[in-house]
Amino acid sequence: MLKRRVVTKQELDGILERLADEINRDLEGKDPVFVGVLKGAVYFFTALTQRLTRSVAVDFIQVSSYGASTSSSGMVTLIKDLTVDIAGKDVYVVEDIVDTGITLVDVLALIAARHPRSLKVVALLSKPSRRKREVPVDFVGMEIPDVFVVGFGLDFAEQFRNLPEIWEFAMEEGG
Ligand code: 5GP
Repeated sequence: MLKRRVVTKQELDGILERLADEINRDLEGKDPVFVGVLKGAVYFFTALTQRLTRSVAVDFIQVSSYGASTSSSGMVTLIKDLTVDIAGKDVYVVEDIVDTGITLVDVLALIAARHPRSLKVVALLSKPSRRKREVPVDFVGMEIPDVFVVGFGLDFAEQFRNLPEIWEFAMEEGG
């Protein structure tokens, strides 16, 4: 069930505005490719990239996710690869949330193997208290405590992604 709102529409707009400002400044002199990590980052990815003041290339990558469980299995497999050649490009990986960091470490390794000129990470949310792997996050929307959230792209068993705000999700009592 949806317990409480963690990030409102208004807060999301503020976060997107600030991140776009920071990234717009960072884009000077770059040859950028924005890589969204499917499916959770899609809503964040489109909202963010539309706020950039110049044209950028976009692509997507999909790796295995939690499925219907709320804890990570610790192994990531590639489901959908990039289609753009990122060699020599400035890659910005766009993630929905960095939790243990395990997914991001693996995604960054996959991307680094294609020899981008530079590699940066943009994450809408981060749960620093849950980190198991040290991973660089260059642009963070908001740090949140150790709660499971849904909405604005984030799912529980493929549901709730289309909610316009971010909610704490809790399993029903006894189920
Ligand atoms: P990590 O590998 O950092 O533990 O987990 C990263 C992935 O787990 C995220 O991209 C996201 O798909 C999923 N995840 C982690 N925390 C949450 C959460 O609170 N809510 C949802 N819906 N997914 C999460």
